[in-house]
Order: sequence, then structure tokens, then C-alpha cells
Amino acid sequence: MSRLICLFGGTFDPVHYGHLKPLKELQHRLGADAVHIIPAALPPHRPAPQASSQQRVNMLELALSEYPGFFLDTRELERSGPSWTVLTLRSFRQQYPDDSLCLVMGSDAFAGLPTWYHWQEILQLAHVVVIERAGTEVVTRPDWATDYLVDDVTSLRHRKCSSVLYVRLKRVDISATEIRKRLATGQDVTGMLPDEVITYINQNGLYQTTT
Ligand code: ATP
Repeated sequence: MSRLICLFGGTFDPVHYGHLKPLKELQHRLGADAVHIIPAALPPHRPAPQASSQQRVNMLELALSEYPGFFLDTRELERSGPSWTVLTLRSFRQQYPDDSLCLVMGSDAFAGLPTWYHWQEILQLAHVVVIERAGTEVVTRPDWATDYLVDDVTSLRHRKCSSVLYVRLKRVDISATEIRKRLATGQDVTGMLPDEVITYINQNGLYQTTT
């Protein structure tokens, strides 16, 4: 049987429970066979990360050791040039020609999808799973997405790409920005990210300043 593979990109500067907990819930809800975490090299839409690529990889390795079925994927770091999602998806599609690929993103990112490089091809290469956070207002679903919408998880296995599924997950109010701000001002970050990652941050003197 074909597999269902989730793909989740970000800067992970640093990785935290706002990433890990919703993804673990999603892994169970979708019955995903694998969740690939893909740190971006040069985020096209935002400032460069504070930690180096290697440091972000090291932190992810520490964090993911506690998450069976999660895999660190460094292909965007190994490629030169910006981390365009469509290039990453082409490469995953080549590697997994018969599986359902699910690109996971928040509803805010999804609303802006039509501004992404070659966005229509993105939907020809993968499904998109849109995370809505419980407790937040129901976001208006964009009109252009109507033709792609499915409302149950099994649909994602019926074909390999081109569906959009909204999933409501428990809300975890943590951001990397907040963590970096706290670290730069000497505040406690316990419980916001794995202890092993906090130890690594302290040992390497990361995020001592906010710039
Ligand atoms: P920053 O605060 O530096 O902008 P971030 O915490 O949003 O970073 P990223 O690495 O940029 O983390 O995020 C990767 C992905 O994780 C994005 O799609 C983002 O929407 C999502 N994400 C981040 N924090 C949360 C959270 N608390 N709950 C759900 N999704 C989240």
C-alpha cells in the first residue's frame, strides 16, 4: 500500500513544542507513516535565522530523538539558493513516486499560497494539510481552494496529491521569536522546548541577543 508522508518546513530557530506537539497530534490523526522535518536554508519570506544551519540541525536532532516516526531532512540546507517549496516537493516526489505527500502549513501561510513560487505546481506534487489552531477564530477558507477541499483523512490516501484538508489541532502558544526574546533577556524557557535543546543553547551561547 502507498504511504502517507507529512512534510513540514520552517526555520526552527530553535525547534520548540509549538512545532512538535501539533505535529505529533497530526501524525496520529492522519495515521502518517512518516513526518519529515525540513529546516530551510535561506527563507525566501523572512530574515535569516540567528543560529547557523548546523546548530539548527543539531537542535533538531536532539529534539527528534524523542519522536518516533519523525525524520530530519536536510535537503534544503544542501541545496544552493533559496528554499523554494516547489523545488523541495519535486525532489520528494522523485524519491517517493507512489506515496501521498502532505505538505503541512498553518492557515495563515495557506492564505498566502498563491504568492509562492510556482504555487499551482505545489498542489500537483502534494496535498496540503492546513492546521487550524483550536481556540482561534475559524479562518475563512480562500475561494480558490474550494476545488481542492476534502473533509476526511482517508481521501488523502486515495490519491497522491491535489487535495486540501483542514485539521483543527490543540493550540500551543509558543513561538521561536518569544523563546529568543526570553533567552536574550535572561528569562526562563523551561517547558517551551525540550530540555536537551535548552542545554545545547546554553552550552553554545545561542540567542544571547535579539538581533
Ligand atoms: P519565528 O517566531 O522565528 O517566526 P516560529 O516559531 O513561527 O518562528 P518557524 O520555524 O518559522 O517557527 O515555523 C515553522 C512552521 O511552524 C510554520 O509553518 C509555523 O506556522 C509553524 N508554527 C510555529 N509555531 C507554531 C505553533 N505554536 N503552533 C502551530 N504551528 C506553529
